[in-house]
Formats: sequence, C-alpha cells, structure tokens
Amino acid sequence: SSARLAGKTILITGASSGIGRSCAFEFARANPTVRLILTARRLETLKEIADQIKKEISETTEVLPIKFDVANPEEVRSFMDNLPEGWKNIDVLVNNAGLVKGVDKVGDILEEDITTMVTTNVLGLIGLTQKVVKHYQARGGQGDIINIGSIAGREPYAGGAIYCATKAAVRSFTDSLRKELIATKIRVMEIDPGQVETEFSVVRFYGDAAKAKAVYDGVDPLTPEDIAEVVVFVASRRQNVVIADTLVFPSHQA
Ligand code: NDP
Repeated sequence: SSARLAGKTILITGASSGIGRSCAFEFARANPTVRLILTARRLETLKEIADQIKKEISETTEVLPIKFDVANPEEVRSFMDNLPEGWKNIDVLVNNAGLVKGVDKVGDILEEDITTMVTTNVLGLIGLTQKVVKHYQARGGQGDIINIGSIAGREPYAGGAIYCATKAAVRSFTDSLRKELIATKIRVMEIDPGQVETEFSVVRFYGDAAKAKAVYDGVDPLTPEDIAEVVVFVASRRQNVVIADTLVFPSHQA
C-alpha cells in the first residue's frame, strides 16, 4: 500500500509537464512523507509545481526542483554527484523525460531532430539509469527503476520511425537490465502508455497547438493522472513484487 512509500526519495525526470508532473502530485497524494526530486529543463515551472504540491497536498512534503537536461551527457554524468547533501539517497527513479519531434517520413526528418530524440529518450535514460543502479548497488542493492516507454516501442507506425525506435530501445534496455538484476532487490519496471493528452503532441507539431489539439478530437485519451496512478501503484507494492511490464490504453485504442 502507499504506506510503503513512507520517507522514500523519488527522482522524476521530465517533471515539469504531463505524466512526470502528475507523478509528482500522485506520489505526494499517496504518501505526503515522500521526498520529491523534480527535474526538467524548465526550472521555474518545477518551482511552481513544488509550491502547488505544498499548497494543495501537503505543506510538509519536501520537494527539490532541479534544472536537469537529460540530453546533455555532462549533466547526466554528474547529476548524482551534484545532488545536495541530504538528497543523495534515491529510492525510486522515474525515467519519464521524453519527446517526439516531427512526424515526417524518414527521408524528411531533420538530422537535429533525430539526434534530439535519440539523446533524450535513449542516451539520457540509459546514462542516468546507469548512475542510479550504481548508487543502489553501493548502498546495499535496493531501489526501483520505473521507465516510461510507449506503445510506439511495441507497435511501430509509419511516420514515427525514430520515435518508435527510441521507445523500442527503452524497452529492450529495460528488459535486459531486469534480467541482469534478477534476484536482487533492484526492481526494474516499465510502463507503456497509449494515447495520453499532454503537451507531448504540441512538441510533435512544432508548437502548433491547434494541430496538436485535433489529435484528441472525437476520442477520449488517457489523462496524465491515469499513468501517474499506475506509476505510484507499481512503486508501492511489497518489495518482492515486480510489476515488470504494463501497457495502459484508453479504451478507444485497446
Ligand atoms: P510532455 O511533453 O507533457 O512532457 C515531457 C516532459 O519531458 C516535460 O516535463 C519536459 O520538460 C521533459 N523533457 C523533454 N526533454 C527533456 C530533456 N532534454 N531533459 C529533461 N527533461 C526533458 O509529454 P508527456 O508527459 O506525454 O511525456 C512523458 C513521457 O511519456 C515521454 O517519455 C513520452 O515519450 C511518453 N509517452 C507519452 C504518450 C502520450 O500520448 N502523451 C504516449 C506514450 C508515451 P522540459 O521541457 O521542462 O525539459
């Protein structure tokens, strides 16, 4: 139950919006004694979220907003070492930061968009996970890794070759790591959302909000809270219970 989250330190990437932001609220709601490290590139937004959590959920919940670009290898390399005193002990990592850029055919995708997607969705996630796994191993070998993949990693679609490939890479990496750490107390889990209404598709259409909104016309997508509830659920099972791999769809997509 959520009592198992008591006092845990939870590190969330991409916490400034959508699913990551909702995870922050859901963890605090589930157990206000959690300590939240919220990271993304938009520090001001993270600070607003921290204030909102204290105002709306619990004044006593400790929240640390940190500016962190997972696509910057140097920041990924030094992230754990640079955590302030008192915040160095992580119990749960939610690897959520991710994006899609462009829906063009392979021949038309801008090279820089390919690089952005691969560095953010794959290299950032792998790099941070490596550091956090080492941290878990160094302090007795316990902790959770929760990776946000996508249905796109299981069922690639035309017009999303790079994004789909990055999410397939997340899936493959997560699977391998789980097997590597089998019979340890490090749980490696993946949650793959179907369609969720977030800022995600605004990014996809280069900031064209009208086009992004049209994606959700006539359908009832998941909310970020729907995914966050699953994240909190898998993190709050008994230590021996690994909800390894979860696909979450809105009913129109299932
Ligand atoms: P949003 O666009 O709402 O949020 C994405 C988050 O990632 C933001 O907080 C953004 O913060 C952060 N982010 C992007 N690039 C970086 C970076 N280089 N460094 C650090 N943070 C970064 O999208 P969602 O909430 O929908 O997406 C969250 C995850 O869910 C992604 O991995 C996405 O692939 C996955 N997903 C989403 C689906 C959907 O339909 N929405 C479906 C399936 C999976 P900032 O800009 O401040 O850095």
